[in-house]
Amino acid sequence: MWNGDSLLNKLYNEAVNQHQTKSKHELRNERRPRLKAALREAIGHFEPNSGFAPRLLERVQCDGYVRERVELSATPELTFAAYVLIPDNVKEPLPAVLAIHGHGYGSREIVGLLRDGSPDQEEPGIHQHFAVQLVKRGMVVIAPDVIGFGERRLLADLALDPNMPSSCFNLSAQLMMLGKTLTGLRVTEALKAFTYLASRPEVDADRMGLMGFSGGGLIGYAAAVLEARINATVLTGFTNTVKDSIFAVRHCIDNYTPGLLVHAELPELIGLIAPRPLFLESGEHDPIFPVGGFRKAAAVIQEIYEAEGAGDKLATDIFPGAHEISGRLAYDWLKRTLTSR
Ligand SMILES: [Zn+2]
Repeated sequence: MWNGDSLLNKLYNEAVNQHQTKSKHELRNERRPRLKAALREAIGHFEPNSGFAPRLLERVQCDGYVRERVELSATPELTFAAYVLIPDNVKEPLPAVLAIHGHGYGSREIVGLLRDGSPDQEEPGIHQHFAVQLVKRGMVVIAPDVIGFGERRLLADLALDPNMPSSCFNLSAQLMMLGKTLTGLRVTEALKAFTYLASRPEVDADRMGLMGFSGGGLIGYAAAVLEARINATVLTGFTNTVKDSIFAVRHCIDNYTPGLLVHAELPELIGLIAPRPLFLESGEHDPIFPVGGFRKAAAVIQEIYEAEGAGDKLATDIFPGAHEISGRLAYDWLKRTLTSR
């Protein structure tokens, strides 16, 4: 055959068969740490920047909560801003959530602001202002600006086109050539935001969770695998198999991690979060993370949770909708799960 289609199928099938053979021969308590280390290596390492003191940029009283904007740094040469939403009248340390947005104009999109920082009075878009939904339920929320979007696009990209939607391509391509990935950089920054959140006096560090949507789900699952203090995780608009979504749909380049599929398919990697509580949400008509792939992935993850003795720690919701957040069950699940710890 002159085309590469059957070769790609053969290579994919060989990889998946290898995962199955290996998981038969490896003990679970050997395979899981090995896969975690493989994920850690595949996304690449970034030098830590422990000397940077967080800086308060802004403090605004909103309806029922305070919205701070702070500047943090996870790696030298690079700082980032994050919104911290704190419910009014905190009397005791509260549960807290790291909220990670997907493609769009940045963290303002999830804290109820427009691109220019003014309040968004319209119906929320696919991100549903989800950080506001969480703070209104009594959780402290941090929403870091993911690199590559909004104010964090590369100057080189903006010089070419001020309306460039993201810098995912240039960031991903250049980092991959250096043995790193954009996912690795985003996870490093997300975990810095999490550590900062844990240090806040309003936060109960034993009751901390994560919610990530779409590209924020990618960052979120890897962060949750690598950070054991993340006690409850919501992944929305992301969970799938590589075969049914990442290979079947023309995704942003930031979804591709060199070599990772040699080790495991995506559901098994997400299953590394077990036995910690996990909620998976998907729109029934999501065109880029199709529901068929979501169902397959959720079934594999359920098996993993059961093998870990934590079958009841996994919850799922398929809602009538597309590539968007619903939150109809997820927000309250997160609050309940963190509060009952
Ligand atoms: Zn992207």
